[in-house]
Amino acid sequence: MRQCKQIIDLVSQQMESKLPWSIRMEVKIHLLMCKNCHRYAKQLSFMQSELNQLEKNLSSVSLATPAKKRIKQSFKLAINESSND
Ligand SMILES: [Zn+2]
Repeated sequence: MRQCKQIIDLVSQQMESKLPWSIRMEVKIHLLMCKNCHRYAKQLSFMQSELNQLEKNLSSVSLATPAKKRIKQSFKLAINESSND
């Protein structure tokens, strides 16, 4: 069995890229059993969808690319920081 910390890492990895099926299953099962990780995963997916929304909004606004990048970066930082406790 993986530790919560590892599951959290996997959950964030999953946002970036597709994980093997067996690992996704393992994460899913852990999330069903572990309240803390479940709550964290929910938060993370909420932030992720906010980020996507933000990206959509930004693409319709004619902001300079560096500014978009900066905003995206600070969002990602916030996501990572919340996983570092
Ligand atoms: Zn857990």
